[in-house]
Amino acid sequence: MLISWINRFSLIEFPWEICSVIFTLWCNFRCDYCHNSEFVLPEKIAKLKTNIIPQKAIFNFLESRKWQLSWVSICWWEPTMQKDLFEFCKKVKSMWFLVKLDTNGRDPDILQKLLAEKMVDYIAMDIKQEIWKFSEVAWVELDETNYLKSIDIILNSNINYEFRTTVIKWVHSKENIWNIAKYIKNAKSYFLQNFRPWITLNPNFQWESFSRMELEELKSEAEKYLKKVAIRN
Ligand code: SF4
Repeated sequence: MLISWINRFSLIEFPWEICSVIFTLWCNFRCDYCHNSEFVLPEKIAKLKTNIIPQKAIFNFLESRKWQLSWVSICWWEPTMQKDLFEFCKKVKSMWFLVKLDTNGRDPDILQKLLAEKMVDYIAMDIKQEIWKFSEVAWVELDETNYLKSIDIILNSNINYEFRTTVIKWVHSKENIWNIAKYIKNAKSYFLQNFRPWITLNPNFQWESFSRMELEELKSEAEKYLKKVAIRN
């Protein structure tokens, strides 16, 4: 595992429990709005290589905080690209932590393997856009069958999970959100996250954010297929 950063104590993931957040390296998407291109683009990653945190240091830290921490979140930029993700989760589970995984959902096989072996306890999957429009946001052509398989695996798992979309004005329409909600019909939870202009992977991607009222309208579209939809503004 290439680990670029650790947030030792976080209450953002689960406000009711303390979590350590582990950030990996690399991503197989190229979202225009990504705020972390230094962990995504190979030419920028090359400059970070000296800052990789050894796994041993991570495990030593976790061991020393067993009594304080409940969760370990493995997130950004795309953890399923790490060849030894499964072994890493196994080690963390052997230390009696609960594991949360954030993913863009491009690799259903690793999700299936992790779930089958009970190596994850919570999955958060980003759905960037309707599948046929993915390339407009993430600059990748998706294998639709594979992608829907990831959604299906999560929907049919017996763990808690969330799906979420970072919504961008002039990119996401009500119809897009309605169609995304249709992919995940009856999912346990779906979050709409408002895009915030900042330093982005594509420096020209500086759209304004949705207003609260506009977000509520998107939420109403999603609620046509889903019971629990929330806004992260
Ligand atoms: S926003 Fe997430 S999925 Fe998109 S390029 Fe950045 S890390 Fe990858």
